[in-house]
Amino acid sequence: MLIFADEMGLKITFLGTGTSQGIPVIASDHPVCLSGDKRDKRLRVSIMIEWDNFCYIIDCGPDFRYQMLRANVHKIDGILFTHEHADHTAGLDDIRPFSFKMGKVPLYANEDVFRSLQQRFEYIFKTENRYPGAPSIEKHLITNSPFNLNDKTVIPVHYLHGKLPVFGYKIDQFAYITDIKFISEKEKEKLKNLEVLVISVVKKGSHHSHMSYEEVMELIKELHPKKSYITHLSHTLGFHKDLEKELPKNVFPAYDGLIINL
Ligand SMILES: [Zn+2]
Ligand SMILES: [Zn+2]
Repeated sequence: MLIFADEMGLKITFLGTGTSQGIPVIASDHPVCLSGDKRDKRLRVSIMIEWDNFCYIIDCGPDFRYQMLRANVHKIDGILFTHEHADHTAGLDDIRPFSFKMGKVPLYANEDVFRSLQQRFEYIFKTENRYPGAPSIEKHLITNSPFNLNDKTVIPVHYLHGKLPVFGYKIDQFAYITDIKFISEKEKEKLKNLEVLVISVVKKGSHHSHMSYEEVMELIKELHPKKSYITHLSHTLGFHKDLEKELPKNVFPAYDGLIINL
């Protein structure tokens, strides 16, 4: 079948939708951690964005290896990082099979993220006397200006996570905003008129570096995307089936394996 370029929409796959410890939490006997519902099993947050023949991953947490196997990913065109926390970066060593197969894996991140990755994965960034099995990467430094990934324009969205600056990403009418505590009015403008907003919610009540559930619902009301999905969920938010009922109209809990096309 012939597909025209302007018909090539985005396909988003949720590779992980859990907060930093994942669900179930190790050694927890919380009912949500013991749930038999597949949608209550959440790996650390990450999404895959595909269009045409391209495939990009946002964040590369400790579950990256299993996420690639589970989603049967054979090729990636790059990884975009939101920030340097371990639940978003700790899987970087596992890009090896891709770099053996395809050569350098392009990484897109801001200066702070690269500085932190370089400290923690010094052998990956080394340019001399490299260990033969080390993954090879290609650095793409991101600032708060649009950049291109093949034929798409990516608009970084800047916000704070506690005191830490984070980049969310907008491509077409889709935006992925994780680990958010504060966003300026100016950056909010980038998130108007969206088809789909994905945004993190960890728990109800206040958190030092994340917006509360209540604050996120307010922000969604203000931005008014056609549909919103919440991710980065902790077990304290309850069972998926209950959360689904309780959320406002056009707001849905994401779950691992969920695919949306737009
Ligand atoms: Zn996180
Ligand atoms: Zn974080």
